Amino acid sequence: MMDSTSVRGVRIASFLLLVFISAAGTLAASDETAPARDPKQAVDEAYTAKIQKYTTAPYFTSPLVNYLPASKTVPTPETVLGDVAGAPGVLPYAEDVYKYMRLLEKASPRVKVFSIGTTEEGREMIAVAISSPENLKNLEENRARLTKLADPRTIKLDDAEADKLVAQAVPVYYITGTIHSPETGAPTALMELAYRLSVDESPYIREIRDGMITLITPVVEVDGRDRMVDIYKWHLAHPKDFYPPLIYWGKYVAHDNNRDAMGVTLKLTENVLNTYVKWKAQVLHDLHESVPYLYDNTVGDGPYNAWVDPILTDEWQMIGSRNVADMTKFGMPGVFTHGDFDTWSPGYLMFIAAMHNGISRLYETFGNGGADTQERTLDPEEYARTWWRQNPPLPKVLWSQRDNNNYEQTGLLTSLHYFNENKRLFLKNFYLKAKRSVAKPSAEGPAAYVLPADESRPSLQAELLRVLQKQAVEISRAKAGFTVALPVKKEKPKKDGKDKKDTKEAEKDKKPEPTSRDFPAGSYIVRMDQPYARIADALLDHQYWSPDDPQKTPYDDTGWTFGELFGVQVARVTDLKVLDVAMERVTEIHAPGGVKGDGAVFAINNAAEPALATLRYKLKDANVEAAEEPFESGGKKFNRGSFIIRNANRADLDRAAADVGLQAVAVGAAPSVKTHPIRAARVAFVHTWLSTQTEGWWRLALDDLKVPYDYISTQAIAKIDDLNAKYDVILFPPVGFFSSPTAIINGMPTAWGNPLPWKNTPETPNLVGKNDSTDDMRPGLGWDGFAKLQTFVQKGGVLLTATDTSRFATEIGLVTGVSAQTSERMKIVGSVVGTRLVDGASPIAYGYEEKVPAYCDNGPIFSLSSISGARGRRRLGNESRSRPTGRGTADEPDFTVGRPGVEAPEEPTSETWEAPPVTDEQRRNGFRVIPPADRARVIFRYADQKDLLISGLVAGGNEIAQHPAVVDVPSGKGHVVLFSINPVYRGETRGTYSMVLNTILNFDSLDAGRKLAEK
Ligand SMILES: [Zn+2]
Repeated sequence: MMDSTSVRGVRIASFLLLVFISAAGTLAASDETAPARDPKQAVDEAYTAKIQKYTTAPYFTSPLVNYLPASKTVPTPETVLGDVAGAPGVLPYAEDVYKYMRLLEKASPRVKVFSIGTTEEGREMIAVAISSPENLKNLEENRARLTKLADPRTIKLDDAEADKLVAQAVPVYYITGTIHSPETGAPTALMELAYRLSVDESPYIREIRDGMITLITPVVEVDGRDRMVDIYKWHLAHPKDFYPPLIYWGKYVAHDNNRDAMGVTLKLTENVLNTYVKWKAQVLHDLHESVPYLYDNTVGDGPYNAWVDPILTDEWQMIGSRNVADMTKFGMPGVFTHGDFDTWSPGYLMFIAAMHNGISRLYETFGNGGADTQERTLDPEEYARTWWRQNPPLPKVLWSQRDNNNYEQTGLLTSLHYFNENKRLFLKNFYLKAKRSVAKPSAEGPAAYVLPADESRPSLQAELLRVLQKQAVEISRAKAGFTVALPVKKEKPKKDGKDKKDTKEAEKDKKPEPTSRDFPAGSYIVRMDQPYARIADALLDHQYWSPDDPQKTPYDDTGWTFGELFGVQVARVTDLKVLDVAMERVTEIHAPGGVKGDGAVFAINNAAEPALATLRYKLKDANVEAAEEPFESGGKKFNRGSFIIRNANRADLDRAAADVGLQAVAVGAAPSVKTHPIRAARVAFVHTWLSTQTEGWWRLALDDLKVPYDYISTQAIAKIDDLNAKYDVILFPPVGFFSSPTAIINGMPTAWGNPLPWKNTPETPNLVGKNDSTDDMRPGLGWDGFAKLQTFVQKGGVLLTATDTSRFATEIGLVTGVSAQTSERMKIVGSVVGTRLVDGASPIAYGYEEKVPAYCDNGPIFSLSSISGARGRRRLGNESRSRPTGRGTADEPDFTVGRPGVEAPEEPTSETWEAPPVTDEQRRNGFRVIPPADRARVIFRYADQKDLLISGLVAGGNEIAQHPAVVDVPSGKGHVVLFSINPVYRGETRGTYSMVLNTILNFDSLDAGRKLAEK
């Protein structure tokens, strides 16, 4: 596997460099211990020889890791791995990593292993604490000290008391490995690191061990790790074949598992967050692999997240710069910080620390996606010297997993040592950040966020509050009604010298702004004078990313405002009096629900709460109908789409409604409005074998809501005889990567290469889990599958698509009269945008108001046409026609000399989201004119340009403004429902889930309330 000639070549060339390095490596501040082995430290010679053998160049190591300390009692990683950490061909399962950590615990009083929870597939997650026996014995006492620093209210914000605690406390540095499953190096690096920290008697290591607690979760994505090891084993068994790409990591999402630190929907996020908060750790350092050779993105690039304390951003600079400096002195090339990662989004796992008064850090090291030693050639931009990468990586190297492990361990050891050297400063900062968080109301504000008791979507309100509780945010409830003053809005100074009279007139017409707001008793109050106020503030506040920001490539989403995306009211209150309101802390948050009143017929209001779908499937045998018009009963108003339930057992309904937090009202008689049945639709959920990254969030949402579905791949569709016999609705959620319409049809290349199986075999026992399997991942939907989909819709089925699958549906021809354009200059990078209700009578819109915030990521731009086969162009709205040059004024008609004037027929007009009206000319032999009943029906459209931005970045929004956002296209007897927004995303967009759920529940009545064009 290794090309020895080229190895030797590199080694000779680097000999001179090595001499220089050894001298420089010993340099350190005079009062700091040198980062080196103690000459008296016994060395495990055999293990050390292998370390050297597997390290491909002398400068890919450091004096800290180029040997292994020997121990008579403590087993080395070789005991479990059969070779050294980072050895070629060796990739341990999580189970093996845990086995080793538990052997360490058994052999050394310096190691303790804690179980921190399980994954979606039931695998264990652990945290390993390494410190002196003394520190480990006093864990609880120490935790009590850290808890006081973490919550300065407990010491009455007394700085002198804090200083005493700072002097006594032992800090906790939390390291997490391999959240991204194809990034494989961390587990072995962390096994060896744990060994070094527990046995090495060199002063440099001893200081770390005695001075602090190193906490390690060696495998974060445990389900994905085991799949990755399977794939690697398959690759070793079939060395000449291409190996299957890791299509599933955890049960639900792949790479996005590192974007869940806002919504906390995945077990791995919850387990790491709980561990971080429980241990009151100062640092959360997450290990990744992609960029050569070690990108410490601690410093990162702008824009920085607006809600973090500047004390933290200073810490980033200190730690990041020092880490690079230490490794540069070892002569290790390609170590840098700054880079192009902006720290705007708080969705990354490591950001749990940034949002909970700690220090967030992340390494990208270099990896081969497995344990093969391979020659790697870099892109010019990867090895270019820049001002922030003065010592860049080399253009071409032989790279091994051992090299990766050397970099990771060297980076971590120098970080731990530097942190320990400065721990009093960092502990004091930990306290100060918490204190400044508690001081938020009177410092930068706000004083609180209030979620009013008269919320029309209590179950969604409860969901949002439960997210905050997962984030360790304290929630209170007002015991009585209260009033707060609203901030006075400052008038913007007028820029131009507009006519003063006009301005005065305008002011006279303006209604006075309210100066206060009342909240009823029972309103939820999220006080900002609490230690973890900043995560609540970051989630509930609005985001603004300037189109002029120097950062042109946002690393991730730019907006996420949870109140907007959950569709619930959240009031940002700056009036400090809100903190004096009589309130009590609440621990259990559950929306009230059950049956009220007397009668045999029950009504449940539809306010677009996803819980309605849960209830429908719970009451599988009940007779449920939807009202097609609003109605009133017993003095209560019910929206369109409200449930009317007959023949239900009251006790069952009461229990089910209470469970999901919905209020059913018993009414004397069914209201006299038109209704249609709401059936428990049979749902197929389609995925590709190209990528499951984005659909995973949809699966998670449906599972959460207990909406059942069959999970099938595009390959399976052609094999199902009669789709309509099995399913009412087919969901085809976004694909994510590699999602072009032709890729969905064709799949991966099959003209060459070998089959890529995704199934359980002796070499791959963990691959399938609870997802799906195939003998060959390569084939796509195929034209047979496409024909099946088309037939399904023609015969009355409902197909729902979003973003890239909507593009697929429009481009491949599943719909007529809708085109999807790609933006030219528009930049809507994961933002919250405004949409507007166009057709409230459509069941898809049941429960929604006029304005609905939604998540958009440069969604396809839909334009409608009533002419089949018309060239799909983006509608530009009504052109402003000015009259031609002639007689008279601009408003007067021209004339023609010698004949009476003729009135031109009025030009038909239409809105941007509508299809242009069919003209008389088009109707002449108009076989292409789509009959009114077959035309697309726009349910929601994007807001006007000025109202488009709610949170995040919107640049060039005019391209998508007013264009359709959700369209229902009749096709044969069925429907294709197209979304330009992504309604189900990262557990953050629960306010738009009901657009999908309404489609499912009303699948056979989607035409309800439809008004057809006259011609
Ligand atoms: Zn990664």
